[in-house]
Amino acid sequence: MRVVKTIDEVRRQVKEWRAQGLTVGLVPTMGYLHEGHASLIDASHRDNDRTVVSDFVNPMQFGPTEDLESYPRDIEHDAALVEAHGGDLIFHPEPEEMYHEGFSSFVDMTVLTQELCGLSRPVHFRGVCTVVSKLFNIVKPDRAYFGKKDAQQLAVIRHMVDDLNMDIEIIGCPIIREADGLAKSSRNTYLNADERKAALVLSQAIAIGKDMVKNGEKDCAAIIGSMKQHIEAEPLARIDYVKIVDCATMQQIEKLDRPALCAMAVYIGKTRLIDNFFTEDV
Ligand code: AMP
Repeated sequence: MRVVKTIDEVRRQVKEWRAQGLTVGLVPTMGYLHEGHASLIDASHRDNDRTVVSDFVNPMQFGPTEDLESYPRDIEHDAALVEAHGGDLIFHPEPEEMYHEGFSSFVDMTVLTQELCGLSRPVHFRGVCTVVSKLFNIVKPDRAYFGKKDAQQLAVIRHMVDDLNMDIEIIGCPIIREADGLAKSSRNTYLNADERKAALVLSQAIAIGKDMVKNGEKDCAAIIGSMKQHIEAEPLARIDYVKIVDCATMQQIEKLDRPALCAMAVYIGKTRLIDNFFTEDV
């Protein structure tokens, strides 16, 4: 397992693998890897001969008041985790390697990004689409792996690949959780002990919503109301959004009459956490 910092090194390695007829999977990450990321690496290792993990805190997808500077980083830990899960190469570039002086081309999307996280984080998906396109062009993988934890991101990437005829199979992987239900996230490290306890309202609200769907509730306002009520009872929690959207359009719906995504973003103290469920997975 190698860690490389330049685009040239990645291209050289992938070319060598291609010459041997090997298939390549890509797992894009921002590092500080946990079992959620590990599950994507496992999936790639199962499906492909070689797995590349990108480990890059992408400045372009952070807004001016967001946590770019404080985002946790630990490449030694990441390298050990990737190796343990059968990854073959980590691409760990500096921002200047990805965005040279004069960089001025972007991949933007006008649909799917107008709701949910796209509303609260206006520059986010442009940054995600641009960096993922660059990674696809650098690695040219057969398959790329994304977590359902970032459900809107997964939908946006699938749409981008379809719109721009990128010849890459996108694989969505289930959310990995802590034993008590909290979705694993690099940002969980920001939480102090009280906040860590309070953060359970997210997965508890998800469980409430799932139960209602399972019991046949079709009224989205009723489901969202019960979920919000649970979260609002926690003094350390502040809701950014709890919404139910059409899976295909990411537009809000009133009745559960089609495949839907129920997604939330909630601040616990200063930390913004997300969680979700797809009604089809209930
Ligand atoms: P990040 O490093 O947070 O940008 O995440 C990199 C990839 O890992 C994204 O596709 C995420 O959706 C995925 N991921 C992050 N946390 C989890 C989790 N708890 N379960 C499954 N996938 C995850």
